[in-house]
Amino acid sequence: MGNGSAGAIPPNPLLGEWAAPLELPPFTEIAPEHFRPAFDQALAEHRAEIAAIADDPALPSFANTIDAFEKAGRGLDRVASVFFNLTGAHTSDALQAIEREMAPALARHRSAIFLNTALFRRIDDLFARRDSLGLTPEQARVLDRYHIIFVRAGARLDPAAKERLAAITERLATLGTRFSQNVLSDERDYTLVLETEEDLAGLPTFVRAAAARAAADRGLEGQYVITLARSSIDPFLQFSARRDLRERAYQAWISRGDTGGETDNKAVIAETIALRAERAKLLGYPTFAHFRLDDTMAKTPEAVRDLLDQVWARARARAMRERDDLQAMAEEEGGNFAIAPWDWRYYAEKVRQAKHDLDEAEIKPYLQLDNMVAAAFDTARRLFGVTFTELQGLPVYHSDVRVWEARDAEGRHVGLFLGDYFARPSKRSGAWMSAFRSQEKLSGDIRPIIVNVMNFSKGGEGEPSLLSFDDARTLFHEFGHALHGLLSNVTYPLLSGTGVARDFVEFPSQLYEHWLERPEVLGRYAVHAKTGEPMPTALLERLLAARTFNQGFATVEYTSSAIVDLDLHLLEEPNGLDVSAFEREALDRIGMPAEIVMRHRTPHFAHIFSGDAYAAGYYSYLWSEVLDADGFAAFLEAGDVFDPATAKRLHDYVYAAGNLRDPTEAYGAFRGRMPVIDALLRKRGLHAISGDA
Ligand SMILES: [Zn+2]
Repeated sequence: MGNGSAGAIPPNPLLGEWAAPLELPPFTEIAPEHFRPAFDQALAEHRAEIAAIADDPALPSFANTIDAFEKAGRGLDRVASVFFNLTGAHTSDALQAIEREMAPALARHRSAIFLNTALFRRIDDLFARRDSLGLTPEQARVLDRYHIIFVRAGARLDPAAKERLAAITERLATLGTRFSQNVLSDERDYTLVLETEEDLAGLPTFVRAAAARAAADRGLEGQYVITLARSSIDPFLQFSARRDLRERAYQAWISRGDTGGETDNKAVIAETIALRAERAKLLGYPTFAHFRLDDTMAKTPEAVRDLLDQVWARARARAMRERDDLQAMAEEEGGNFAIAPWDWRYYAEKVRQAKHDLDEAEIKPYLQLDNMVAAAFDTARRLFGVTFTELQGLPVYHSDVRVWEARDAEGRHVGLFLGDYFARPSKRSGAWMSAFRSQEKLSGDIRPIIVNVMNFSKGGEGEPSLLSFDDARTLFHEFGHALHGLLSNVTYPLLSGTGVARDFVEFPSQLYEHWLERPEVLGRYAVHAKTGEPMPTALLERLLAARTFNQGFATVEYTSSAIVDLDLHLLEEPNGLDVSAFEREALDRIGMPAEIVMRHRTPHFAHIFSGDAYAAGYYSYLWSEVLDADGFAAFLEAGDVFDPATAKRLHDYVYAAGNLRDPTEAYGAFRGRMPVIDALLRKRGLHAISGDA
């Protein structure tokens, strides 16, 4: 493929062959101005490929239609994966401007494909004859999935409805981009600067070190800065003895996207919800939630509601008891106030110390980032035989990014794994896994290039970076997703890796968290940063015994967010939605404790509004948790958390299987039976709690 290197114009590194080692994207050569022309060329190529398939005079065959469709758009995938990984992990004003242009343009492009009548006629024809085509089981699954995807995208609608649907889709893409740019802007613009010793009251050394580092990154040498990254504000709220500063930081944190200014998201949300509802109606569903859930494991809003209700009542009852403990602790210390949301983490830490003799500052030096990365790798070796070797000197998009090569038990190349662990102003908040390239075998043996992006605080100069136990759990979680991408062993791109139902995709990631909590893993990798001593057994035991501590709070935070998400998407006539009033009323209805705020308030609920991946789908974590709690029990029942036979089934039916099977079938093949909820309730300490509170 030519890359337009005529005359004096230097070649565009995004086009043509990528010359970087190990087929990595040529990160160090890419400049923002390369993206628009690269997108334009890749879109034109893809359009030509689609037209050739749709207008093929030959009768539809699996090869000339589905194979050809799966092979098309390779250049576009490549450019888009680099672009969107950068806009998430290392963006800039220039990239944001391109993102605002490209989001609707790409939505238009997708609509033109999925609403293409001639193309769908071929797929529909193949689908009608599917039993006589002599397909392999994987091919049959691909055809079935594409048929569903096209129908759900509106391929069967009349021309007027198609046109409206395309307009809605394009507008939603613009709104999703605006939503995430607004949140990023509010996060980037806020800092709490701590100037005096009194401002630092209560903060242990590791919090001070991270705050000093965050200040230095912003040119405030010698000062201390708290940011709205979870890894910065969480420990601040946990330890700061300054109630006034806790309140100030907390208010800023829960007001992201809700500041009333230019970056306010409420109008964006109202329009998004209205357009999603209209889209669902055009497609024949009463609400967006019905539409969205139809193609998941849960299938219906009722099934989701049933799970959320079962957990909510128990979690709320438990959180109320936790609140009483915190109130008693505050009063014991002479506090003459009712526990407020900005007090919860502070007093919870004190109660944890009193009840479980556990001090976050005592645990933290044992949780070094490098060791936790090594622990995640070693767990993969013991379960699946994969090993990771760090590669130096490769071109990456930021100096913090590290690259490892994964090899299987026979020493064969599995793929590349990139780790991008630290918070910075150019990165959006949260933690995620993504792919620069997904595994497939349709166009040769294509190996995956997977990335994990986190927002951990960097350690002080020359000091190791230390994680909280929650951070370490996040690392294992995202690495579970990474393995789902790396170990993928399918032929067709559509079915690769994490391309599974939304409420199944958190199963491999959440399941992986269980190994972190094992003495077999922590006992080996939790080593003190200063002394090199392993974590004392007594401390390890106390840490693991306290696992369900504060789980009422965590479950209420999470479940309330899932309930508001479901309620918003069950609106039949959402026009003129008052977002604040809706959130308040939804929370009143379930009896939200005044001392707890949703884990993600609506104005910055990126899962459901920066695109629609988790819209009416935030419950997915809990749904998958039924599976991971029940699934890990398979190892416990085998008497070995690395039991080879169980690990092999897990590998074959889950981590390597992508979307080869319906998720319920895949789970059953791994576990030998369907999941039950009991293990989840035990894991969260909710099994002995009556729901009537
Ligand atoms: Zn996840």
